[in-house]
Amino acid sequence: MVTETEHRTDDYFREHLSNQNEDGKRKWLYPRVENGPLLRWRTVVAWALLAALFVGPWLQINGHPLFLFNVLDRKFIFFGVTFWPQDFHLVAIGLIAFIIFISLFTVVYGRVWCGWACPQTIFMEMVFRKIEAWIEGDHNARKRLDNGPWTGEKAFKKTAKHTVFFLIAFAISNTFLMYIIGKGDWLKLVTDNPVNHIGGLASMLIFTAVFYLVFARLREIVCITICPYGRLQGVLLDKNSMVVAYDYVRGEPRGKKIKNEEVRMKNGGAVAPKGDCIDCKLCVQVCPTGIDIRNGTQLECINCTACIDACNNVMDKIDRPKGLIRVDSLEGIEKGQPLTFNTRTKAYTAVLVAIMGLWVYLMASRADVETTVLRAPGQLYQTETGGLVSNLYNIEFVNKTHQALPVQFRVTRPDAQIRMVLPIQTVPSAEIAKGSFFILLPDKAITETSTKLEIEVVAGGEVVDRVKTTFLGPVK
Ligand code: SF4
Ligand code: SF4
Repeated sequence: MVTETEHRTDDYFREHLSNQNEDGKRKWLYPRVENGPLLRWRTVVAWALLAALFVGPWLQINGHPLFLFNVLDRKFIFFGVTFWPQDFHLVAIGLIAFIIFISLFTVVYGRVWCGWACPQTIFMEMVFRKIEAWIEGDHNARKRLDNGPWTGEKAFKKTAKHTVFFLIAFAISNTFLMYIIGKGDWLKLVTDNPVNHIGGLASMLIFTAVFYLVFARLREIVCITICPYGRLQGVLLDKNSMVVAYDYVRGEPRGKKIKNEEVRMKNGGAVAPKGDCIDCKLCVQVCPTGIDIRNGTQLECINCTACIDACNNVMDKIDRPKGLIRVDSLEGIEKGQPLTFNTRTKAYTAVLVAIMGLWVYLMASRADVETTVLRAPGQLYQTETGGLVSNLYNIEFVNKTHQALPVQFRVTRPDAQIRMVLPIQTVPSAEIAKGSFFILLPDKAITETSTKLEIEVVAGGEVVDRVKTTFLGPVK
């Protein structure tokens, strides 16, 4: 009988997902853990990012969250700076810049985000997989446990694992909720009478269920099939992109090393020449998406670099140079040239820096207040007693600062006066106030049907904004 492996062609990987059996059913992956310097660095980066994620909602600047993504109230805070619907152009430019940034970054530096910074990978590999190993044992023990019959020990381990998974999913869900509704509202949600927060508590449970499902069941399917960024790799990467790659020039033809092979070859022995790959398949065993990187760059590779550590350990043991699997470009491997910071990389990096600079500039130059003054619709002008002409204006003042602002309005033209109708006084932090006023001009001073005026907005004795408008009146 021909086994599954025996009858596979070299192109088998092109027709089947790495986590799929021949019958199309899910093949559960049990990635092995191989220590190495890259794993140690990944662990450091992962814990730093996890700490930032969980501490983030508790950090405040002037009483405001560091980050807030309140889509319900359309209120967004980045690094303590509040963005309003009026700042939509900044958010839109920021998003476009972000998409260009991601595309260019991927073209040059490959999928490094996925393996080293994506929350999906960090939680899966550094939290959930570690807890699984702690409770159920290493990759072999986990496979034995899953394939074995249900016993008291198996039931205990599975219950313990899924309980811990659910609790962590609950913690993640609460953290994400804090980024959406803010720390204050979240505290109310968890301390107040639950009857008053049915919607909030339901979303908390839905988030928890989704996170639990993602990390307990979906796992690598998120990276392979669901994530849109992962699906875009085929169009973003080219032969010059930095990727985790197998040096087939050096590694092939692969095969087990035979003792004294080199001596025998020198003496004209009949042993076929071998590359450096000893076909131990350790690189496949450690892969969290179950692929064989020796088949070339694949959509499923998340650039986690686990196979680099594994193969380097093998190379150490067989006394061959490290780097049979390494971060390189396909062009570099084909031509045998080391990865350099070439003109293309420099140009793309310069564009990336420029995009980031533009975004920082937009953030830094964003006004703290925003005033809109519009003449009341459907009205031209009114003639008043005392030889005066008036125009009615509607005003809107947005206070984007972190303190309340007592505001006043004045016209720079000395013969103009303002008469408040619906006054705006003190505008609380991060709020919008609306009002209306008349501007009055002496009729003798009107020399045009539309006179240009400038209005100053004064807060705390300082001019915080200037607005231009027009005044309609009869020309004598
Ligand atoms: S770990 Fe290295 S030597 Fe072993 S199969 Fe993979 S590429 Fe070949
Ligand atoms: S091929 Fe290597 S770098 Fe890519 S996902 Fe697998 S282990 Fe990680």
